[in-house]
Amino acid sequence: MKCPFCGINNDQVLDSRPIEHAPAVRRRRECSSCKKRYTTFERPEELPIMVVKSDSRREPFDRRKIWVGIDRACRKRPISAETINKVVSKIEDEVVGEYIMEISSRNIGEKILEKLWNIDLVAYIRFASVYRKFDDISAFMRELKKLKKEYMKRQKNRKL
Ligand SMILES: [Zn+2]
Repeated sequence: MKCPFCGINNDQVLDSRPIEHAPAVRRRRECSSCKKRYTTFERPEELPIMVVKSDSRREPFDRRKIWVGIDRACRKRPISAETINKVVSKIEDEVVGEYIMEISSRNIGEKILEKLWNIDLVAYIRFASVYRKFDDISAFMRELKKLKKEYMKRQKNRKL
């Protein structure tokens, strides 16, 4: 396929890894021209995983949407693009590995929160505030309390 960095169509597949429990494969490729590496993900076009939204509408699972949501939450935080990409791939692996036909957008949101919690608490609360909406101030306060407790714990561990 065409290299996403230099556009030349001359790549080599370094590694092919089937995804457990799902008709999908992930391939690690290297461009023979600029030597950059990238990953592709393949699944039958006829069998996309559908995401069921809160209003019951369905749309095909789209890795880019997850990327956009996480990237937005991580803006100006000390988190590399590589880390973001890894998180997105991890979520994608989980989704296609655990779900055959469809997944709710809620489940995806929870997966993202779980990952952000381990990476950066600010990114976590940013994503949570968009995703959980917090139209109730007490729910927001509860979340902040939980966050503060975790933050203190992490600070303490850092000092030890
Ligand atoms: Zn290239």
